Amino acid sequence: MEAAAWGANVTITVGDDSFRFESDGIPSHELPEQFLVPQEGSFTPPVGEEEVSVVDTDIAVVASPIDITIPLEPTWSDVPTDTGLGIIGVAVSGAMLFNDYEDPSRSFVAVDDNFAIDGVPFVDSCNGHPLALARDGSGQGQYHYHGVPYCITDAIDADGSHSSIIGFLRDGYPVYGPQDDGGVIITSDDLDECSGHVGPTPEFPEGIYHYHFTEDRSPYTVDCYHGVVN
Ligand SMILES: [Zn+2]
Ligand SMILES: [Zn+2]
Repeated sequence: MEAAAWGANVTITVGDDSFRFESDGIPSHELPEQFLVPQEGSFTPPVGEEEVSVVDTDIAVVASPIDITIPLEPTWSDVPTDTGLGIIGVAVSGAMLFNDYEDPSRSFVAVDDNFAIDGVPFVDSCNGHPLALARDGSGQGQYHYHGVPYCITDAIDADGSHSSIIGFLRDGYPVYGPQDDGGVIITSDDLDECSGHVGPTPEFPEGIYHYHFTEDRSPYTVDCYHGVVN
């Protein structure tokens, strides 16, 4: 956990059996100048131009502090628990990890159903974006990732090696980009139903259960926890 490349906007406090993650919620990497965000107050995924607004990033992505406690020693559960909408984990950039879905009915996969209008993306090249604006038009911020966060992995992953930690899920297991041992790109077929497997990683050379975000198909992130979530 200490070995992760936490951004300057992240404060980690280690307790007896858990650690506390605090950040301003704004990712520590570059963002596009604008985003397509769903119309105010809409929680239905947009499917076309008339359902989104072009919003400047300084309004769309605002500080939305995260304060979450995560187990230091994850507890394995044979029975997986579905991840829900909203925060499923935290990234070293200070922003949130989400599952791959944009809606509760799991019909809109953010990466697959992504679109852009005049070069302004719904989900950006880091596979992240902000939540819809609040009904009063104020920014709601809460930038989050729905797929491999390339702005993070490009900076920390080395060619020919297993990916480095990009964050932790709420069950305490670490999360990695798509590079497995030797830098081989791992796919969903190589992983269990929760996009995890056991093996050595740079931070845990003895081996640990860990999740991989993948590039091949949904779930690009993690659709279920294999650890106990409080
Ligand atoms: Zn989203
Ligand atoms: Zn691995």
